[in-house]
Amino acid sequence: MAELSGLQVFKYLPAAKKLPEGNCKKCGFPTCMAFGLKLAKNQTEIELCPYAPEELKEIFTQSMKQPQKEVMLGHKNQILIGGENVLFRHDKTFINKTAIAVVIDTAEKNWEAKLNRITEFEITRVNETFKVDLIYLKGEIKPELTDKLDNLGFAWIIEENLKELTKIEDGDVFETIQTLTDIRKKAVLEKDENYSSPVYVYFKHEEDLLKLSAKASFYLCKYANLLIFEDFNEALISTLMTLRQNIYTDPQKPLQVESKVYEFNNVDENALIFLTTNFALTYFAVANEIESINKPAYLVVTPSDGMSVLTAWSAEKFTAQIVARTVAKFELAKKVKNKQIIIPGLLSHMKEEIEEVLPDFKILVGPNEAYLLADFVKQITN
Ligand code: SF4
Repeated sequence: MAELSGLQVFKYLPAAKKLPEGNCKKCGFPTCMAFGLKLAKNQTEIELCPYAPEELKEIFTQSMKQPQKEVMLGHKNQILIGGENVLFRHDKTFINKTAIAVVIDTAEKNWEAKLNRITEFEITRVNETFKVDLIYLKGEIKPELTDKLDNLGFAWIIEENLKELTKIEDGDVFETIQTLTDIRKKAVLEKDENYSSPVYVYFKHEEDLLKLSAKASFYLCKYANLLIFEDFNEALISTLMTLRQNIYTDPQKPLQVESKVYEFNNVDENALIFLTTNFALTYFAVANEIESINKPAYLVVTPSDGMSVLTAWSAEKFTAQIVARTVAKFELAKKVKNKQIIIPGLLSHMKEEIEEVLPDFKILVGPNEAYLLADFVKQITN
C-alpha cells in the first residue's frame, strides 16, 4: 500500500517539476495529478509512467512489501497465519487469527483418549463455532491416524511444517512478550525481512492452569501467530478462542445479527415482546436472558448497522419510525393478544415517540441492563 498522499506523489512527477513531458497522458490519465492521485490509492501501476523517477519507484517498492509473510499450515493448507501489517487492531484490523494447535504424541499413554477429547471439543460464541485449528502430530504417525483426522475435517501438521516460522521459547512471560513485540515492530514498522516470518510459541506441560492461561492470553494479544499446547484443556482453549474472537473481529465491521423477530420458548398469543438493536453482543445478552426467563417471547431486532442501543439512537439508526416499520413488517399486532412492547431502559425517552407511531401497542420501559430482565418480567407478569 502506498504511504504517500496523492499530492506527495504528484510532487515527484514531471508536471510538478515543470518538465516538458508533464501531462503527456502516456500513463492513460489526462494529467500527472490524476495519475498521482490514483497511484497513491494503489489503483494504478507506477510503471505506466515512463518518466517516474527511480526515487519514487523505490518508495513504492518499499511500501508494497508485505511486513509479515503469510504461511499456510495443515496438510491440505487449511489454516492461514501471518500477513499482519499493523501493530494495533484499531489502526486497521488484524488479518489472520492466531491459530491454536494441540500436540498428539503417539508415544504417549492415552493419546487416543486425548485425541477424542480434542476432536469432540467445540464452542459457539456470538454465532461462530470454533474447534481446535491444528493437531500437531508427533511420534509414529500411521495412515489410519491421518485418515481419521482427514475424515473428521481436522488439519494436522508435523515438525517439518513449522520450518517457515520463527519459534519463540515460552520463558519468562515479560521477556517473551518483549521478544514477540520487538519482532512484530521490526516487521511492521521497519519491514525488516529478517523478522517477517510468522511466530509461534510452544507450551510444554504446565501444572498451573491459571499461569498457562495468563501467559497464552498475553501471547495471543502480543503477537503470536500460532500457539501450540502439549496439554489439552477445554477451559483454556475456550478462554483463548473467546479472547481471539474479540481481537480478530474487524473494528470497522461490527458484529451483527439479522434484523428480524426472534422467537423464544414456544411463542403463543400471550408472548411478551422485547425490542433491541442488531449489535451481536447486545442481541446475545438480551436473547440469553429471555431464554432463561422461560416465558414465550418475541425479540424484535431492528436494523441498526450493528450498533448498540444508545449508539444507534444517537446515530439515528434506532428511531421510532424504524421500530414501527420492523414491528409492522413482522405483523406482530396480529400475533399477540397483550399488545405491549418492552423497550431498553436506556431508551426510556423514546417511549411517547414510539407509542405515537405504534398506537396499537403500549410501550413499557425495561431495565438498562439485560441481566435485570428476569426481575422486570416478574414484576409485570405477577
Ligand atoms: Fe504525467 Fe507520467 Fe502520466 Fe505523462 S505518463 S501524464 S508524465 S504521470
